[in-house]
Amino acid sequence: MQHERVAEDVFFFQSELYAQVTAGVVAGPDMAVLIDTLALPEETMEVRRFIERELRVPVRYVVNTHYHADHSWGNCLFPDALVVGHKRCYELLEARGIEALEAEKKHNPQLRDIDIVLPHITFESGDMTLQVGKKTLKLFPLPGHSPDSIGVLVDEDKVLFSGDTYMPLPYLVDGDIEEMIASLKTITKMGLENLVPGHGDIVLRGEIEGAVKSNLDYLGEIRKAVRQASRRKYPWDLLDEVQVEDAGKSRVLIGGLAEQLHRQNLSALYRYYYGELPAGSELYED
Ligand SMILES: [Zn+2]
Repeated sequence: MQHERVAEDVFFFQSELYAQVTAGVVAGPDMAVLIDTLALPEETMEVRRFIERELRVPVRYVVNTHYHADHSWGNCLFPDALVVGHKRCYELLEARGIEALEAEKKHNPQLRDIDIVLPHITFESGDMTLQVGKKTLKLFPLPGHSPDSIGVLVDEDKVLFSGDTYMPLPYLVDGDIEEMIASLKTITKMGLENLVPGHGDIVLRGEIEGAVKSNLDYLGEIRKAVRQASRRKYPWDLLDEVQVEDAGKSRVLIGGLAEQLHRQNLSALYRYYYGELPAGSELYED
């Protein structure tokens, strides 16, 4: 696991084992807030040890940017913390997460002692504020990647933890393209110093506009491809030819998963517009 200081008392962690997934910590004089857990318990435990040994404050809150496994299944490793998330995060973790974890435990012994912990504190619209020493954390809906996605802004430092609504390659399978476009436009207007994606590397101030535009362009390209394909008798024949590079993105992104995520985006977006998967395609949720 990599870790880095983003601003004073603000830290970033990135998995070396799964899809460059990230977590963040904002520390105050007597407590810390953790933003997301990592995909595997061993890496979440590394984050916990860093906080205990280097920052020497208890984690009082764990914020889940959304309910997906790679961001929320480590909640139980912070038994003294209160979990915070969107109301939909609670509902989706309860409706899908519990069952998905039970299924996953059958072939992943590392998850044996993991349990789903549902958010203790939820909000639905507007902002929710957490004060950590001198820092103000603003939590607000940032949908697009999933219905429950939120962003976490460290107001004084202009650092945004965007969850997966911004990541180096958009991922739409559980999301909504129109919401994602609106959320990405919001991000560019926030005057940020740093954008911390749910997967991948930190984006610095001067690169944020270009990085977000690249995602908007990608979404435009795949939307165009899906519309063209819909006019074909066998839409997947055309979509199958559209490589991730054709939509302006590199296949090495997100630990090499980009092409696979891109293919799922094409299927999901086709279903979004036309109500069914393009014949011949495959789609894996989560
Ligand atoms: Zn994720």
